[in-house]
Amino acid sequence: SANYPIYSGGFSLVRSLLKKYNIKGGTFDQHFLVDAGYLDRIVAASELGPEDVVLEIGAGIGNLTERLAKKAKKVIAVELDPVLVRVLHDRFDKIENIEIIAGDALKIKLPEFDKVVSNLPYSISSEITFKLLRHKFKLGILMYQYEFAARMVSSPNCKDYSRLTVDTCYFADASILMKVPKNAFQPAPEVDSAVIKLVPRPAPFEVKDQAFFMDFVAAVFSQRRKKLRNAVLNMNHVLEIPSIKEVIAQLPEDMMSKRAENLTPEELAKVANQIIDLKTSLLANELKGQ
Ligand code: SAM
Repeated sequence: SANYPIYSGGFSLVRSLLKKYNIKGGTFDQHFLVDAGYLDRIVAASELGPEDVVLEIGAGIGNLTERLAKKAKKVIAVELDPVLVRVLHDRFDKIENIEIIAGDALKIKLPEFDKVVSNLPYSISSEITFKLLRHKFKLGILMYQYEFAARMVSSPNCKDYSRLTVDTCYFADASILMKVPKNAFQPAPEVDSAVIKLVPRPAPFEVKDQAFFMDFVAAVFSQRRKKLRNAVLNMNHVLEIPSIKEVIAQLPEDMMSKRAENLTPEELAKVANQIIDLKTSLLANELKGQ
């Protein structure tokens, strides 16, 4: 294992690291996790073994990176801020199992990895999560703004149930592992945070056309208080369903008279699948008639 001091044991050691490099944070969503107790709990939840390649998005000053590298085969640390990239090189260039990638996690081609463990920059939460979920990996242990995490794991008929809940459920099992208070960070963010455990798996229900399902879910949740029938009608400039009135008349009345927020992900997938089937048969009939 790596032979260098770990900044652990309370708040003061990570703080002294921030002081040593004169890092103030604030820009680029920089809120450093200074509480060693939470850092250790995140590493424990990652269940790292010597075969694991770990991706870390937004490595900052390396407070989490150093802990992950002690347990994993390799840590690939991505960081956008050139000042922090210099800190990471200064601290870890002699450590063989830490690779540093300077760049924007949204723009770079992500390397292959087994697990992703990160205290994410909150402004890219949604985009980076769905970028990650298009890769094959075993486990994600990811810190988000608490409200965002609550929406990821919500259920139908709850106020947090949203497009994000359905999209997350399509790709992975998600659960909140712990809530993390503002004062665990320096500088403290304005909101509380939560660590999510994400386990990718095949969707637990059939989806005939993934791109259409995603568009359909986005469209009907943009009209979450409307009955599904009206939401689909209002959003057809985006969904582009041909012969829309005819199609809607053939969709199951019990679901079309409910709101998106009252339907399970599986029920939403059923309606989306039926629309795809109806579109296909309409097209076939048109071709026959030609
Ligand atoms: N890992 C450190 C920790 O746990 O204390 C820092 C976490 S801080 C919440 C988020 C980090 O992501 C910052 O270091 C910030 O510079 C970096 N960052 C922000 N946007 C980024 C992006 N698009 N790509 C990669 N890193 C980014």
